[in-house]
Amino acid sequence: MGPANADGVLRFVRPELLAMAGYEPVEPVEVLAARLGVPPERIVKLDGNENLYGPAPAALRALVEHQGYHIYPDPDQRRLRTALAEYVGVPAEHIVAGAGSDELIDLLARVLLGPGDRVIDLVPTFGMYAFTTTVCGGTVVPVPRRPDFSVDVAAVAAAVDARTKLIFVASPNNPSGNLLSGQDLERLLALGVPVVVDEAYVEFSGGSVVRLVPERDNLVVIRTFSKWAGLAGLRVGYGVMPAPLARLLLAVKPPYNVNVAAEAAVLASLAERELLAERVRAIVAERERLTALLAEIPFLRPWPSQANFVLCDVTRGDARVLRDGLRRRGIFVRYFDRDGLRDKVRISVGRPEHTDALLAALREMGDEPRP
Ligand code: PMP
Repeated sequence: MGPANADGVLRFVRPELLAMAGYEPVEPVEVLAARLGVPPERIVKLDGNENLYGPAPAALRALVEHQGYHIYPDPDQRRLRTALAEYVGVPAEHIVAGAGSDELIDLLARVLLGPGDRVIDLVPTFGMYAFTTTVCGGTVVPVPRRPDFSVDVAAVAAAVDARTKLIFVASPNNPSGNLLSGQDLERLLALGVPVVVDEAYVEFSGGSVVRLVPERDNLVVIRTFSKWAGLAGLRVGYGVMPAPLARLLLAVKPPYNVNVAAEAAVLASLAERELLAERVRAIVAERERLTALLAEIPFLRPWPSQANFVLCDVTRGDARVLRDGLRRRGIFVRYFDRDGLRDKVRISVGRPEHTDALLAALREMGDEPRP
């Protein structure tokens, strides 16, 4: 028997949350596979920008061999932050780790935003900036990118006001794959508002700005082990920021936010970074091969990418129909039901055999994707 008034408790919830749509995550493979009647092991998963080479062997060994799972992790993340400092070349006092870079986005929004504070969102981009801003009670101010997806700095400057607390800019941007130019970064920093450069995919592009952090008082760089290191499921990312902000985040975060398994896997991954770097080089080479092959498909126009995915315009037929047609053939790509993206699909870069399977399916579709 349910309560007398099942919605009763919702009267106490913040009204702006009741109105919000919720993040649109990628559905788990098992769920989609079962619905489509495709065996899960036949699925080619190119919808989540994951690393299909998987974790470093040393990380898998460290997870098996770790002896301390019954003990809480260090709330100050000393070993982790020291190792990250060596990896990025910035002192540990600037670094905070989290459960994915998603948690860094959340922590930054929680410490910086009060009700009505504004966040600049350079759309189209990664959905978590808008989602987290809303959850934290802030107001999302979308500033469209130019047709080539570069940042319209003049439009950002015009949108900034006294209530603006954050500008999020992904570089490379998801889903377009392009980098923020050094000149545009300087112009954004000159606006004086905290600028968060999200470098989730920077290992596939080079050109990190992380080493500028100690010299600037409004630059935050967030990074992750989900993509280059193949640890998306373990959830570990980090932020590099002015030391006073890092101290504040360390003080307010949930004390044990990065679990000991994630810590062990990160330390082992950093020790085996040369092998991971080789895989990154393979993914970058595959991205270029995939882009060239996609350009030969009559209904697709791929955008150049600096990340581990390729955005494609669907120039004939319907992008959602294309996504569904590929799904029926066991190949998952990402379609976004959002302004500016409804005529596009985003395809993650897998291993060569995944590209081959995708291309075979696309060729089967002939001149145009049909329902
Ligand atoms: N930033 C960008 C631009 C992303 O695309 C993603 C993952 N899709 C993330 C951050 C979050 O990554 P994670 O939380 O796994 O570190």
